[in-house]
Amino acid sequence: MNQSVVPSVSPGALEVVPLGGLGEFGMNMMALTWGDTTIVIDAGVMFPDPDQLGVDLIVPDLTWLEQKRGQVKALVLTHGHEDHIGGVPYVLPHVEGPVYGTAFTLALVEPKLEEHGIDAKDRLKPVKPRESVTVGPFTIEFIRVTHSMPDCVALAIETPLGTIIHTGDFKIDQTPLDGEHFDLHRFAELGSRGVLALFADSTNIDRRGFTGSEVEVIEAFEEIFTSTEGKLVVAAFSSSIYRMQVLVDLAAQFDRKVAFVGRSMARNVEIAQRLGYLRVPVGLQIKDADVGTFPGQDVLCITTGSQGEPQAALPRIAIDDHRFVRIGPDDVVVFSARAIPGNEKAIARTMSHIARRGAEVITDSMKHVHVSGHASAEELKLVISLVRPRYFVPVHGEYRQLSQHARVARRVMSGQGRSVEVLLAGDGDVVRFDQEGARLEGKAPAGRVLIDMTRAGEVGDEVLRDRRNVAAEGIVVAVLAINQQTGVLVGEPEIIPRGFVVDREDDALFREAVLVLRETVASSSVEERADQGLMTEKIRVELRRFFKKRSGRRPLVLPVLMEI
Ligand SMILES: [Zn+2]
Ligand SMILES: [Zn+2]
Repeated sequence: MNQSVVPSVSPGALEVVPLGGLGEFGMNMMALTWGDTTIVIDAGVMFPDPDQLGVDLIVPDLTWLEQKRGQVKALVLTHGHEDHIGGVPYVLPHVEGPVYGTAFTLALVEPKLEEHGIDAKDRLKPVKPRESVTVGPFTIEFIRVTHSMPDCVALAIETPLGTIIHTGDFKIDQTPLDGEHFDLHRFAELGSRGVLALFADSTNIDRRGFTGSEVEVIEAFEEIFTSTEGKLVVAAFSSSIYRMQVLVDLAAQFDRKVAFVGRSMARNVEIAQRLGYLRVPVGLQIKDADVGTFPGQDVLCITTGSQGEPQAALPRIAIDDHRFVRIGPDDVVVFSARAIPGNEKAIARTMSHIARRGAEVITDSMKHVHVSGHASAEELKLVISLVRPRYFVPVHGEYRQLSQHARVARRVMSGQGRSVEVLLAGDGDVVRFDQEGARLEGKAPAGRVLIDMTRAGEVGDEVLRDRRNVAAEGIVVAVLAINQQTGVLVGEPEIIPRGFVVDREDDALFREAVLVLRETVASSSVEERADQGLMTEKIRVELRRFFKKRSGRRPLVLPVLMEI
């Protein structure tokens, strides 16, 4: 008997396993296996909630790929958003073959590999829409779709059992800024030939109508450019290249210089310009360091920080703590992005800081300064109508969106006098296709791995280290209350040690630590004091420094900051 290396898949069956992105937003990833060949679609990350302290990134559990060791033959990328490529450095070590993606997508992957010291440039294989590549039993065709960034594709994967279409992220933008149209024709052709299964983006299924084109924001921005007397600052996602193009074109028209502010912004702009996806007229762009040398009315700053992230450019500008950019009365700050759920508080705080500087804040609920990159219900219906799949698997979304998308798919297909079988899968569900049809059958290991980038590694190790640290060095809880209006300390700050045998010396140490707390608060600006995230971090750093210097110990410091 031939000893098969892979007993899990019998000949004649296709296994599709979503490893992330089903039941949550972000970290999109899916594995397809036929015989002894596995390919992976996308390798995304998810960003942590503010209360997941010390966690920078969340990636899918990769145990399934480990179990397929030696047979994962390609990684196929749909587009360059972090929730699709952010995990490439973590996934790539499990892949033996090439990474396929469009030129822009791969250009965004490159610096990630560099950051992680992974030398894999020769494995990045650029593809173009309507091209195909073959990996074992799979032939993968790339199909142009439109989204909120350039060079996005859907995938049509020919398998021995039929064609599978994965939409990636998309909306149907009929007036794309770069003239690269959604390839509706190809979807229709494949649909008329017969499609086994459609895996479709569910993000905006709960929005009625059509999402609208990227060009829709031009009108609102024209108004803003016309009426703004001082500096214009626009916060956007650093991947929103189309938004940047709109703003650059308007800046040229309204005689403003453009500065890109924020590290990820500057990096993506450099890549997009180098590859021709962003066109900036000669002489228009200035360095962020030179913003202060131009009169406000001559400058447009495009910045990071639309989500209120404490380290990003706009929140720093808002508390007058940015190296180069200042704002004041007459200036206008536009939030040209949606608020990602969970970030509302941080965003609101940033807006208040800006308002305190006298600048005007404009959001997408006041003017049409943002348009989503994801298809609304009518566009999703259109794709289902064109593709007419036998099986439908909603992807990219929480369970409520997946199930709504399923309902819509059934309605669309029954309207065509056809039926469709919906497979409502979650992360780790094995979707099995064979001669008899398709069904959910069994579970693959799936879940989340929390990454702490500052210490390189999974938080599993981190937790262990913390525990060891606490065992050896103890723990110090610093409790203080700050009046939110005045920024003044309320009552006496408190230091609560645990794991210390408190002798007289330690007692003095803790009393001194209270003084450090007082000083830290006193030396902070009112705005810093009102920002819980910033202040907590500052106190942590100061106390750690104090304990190390004074006692040579490194207790775990936990600031508890109450806003009153
Ligand atoms: Zn996307
Ligand atoms: Zn996405």
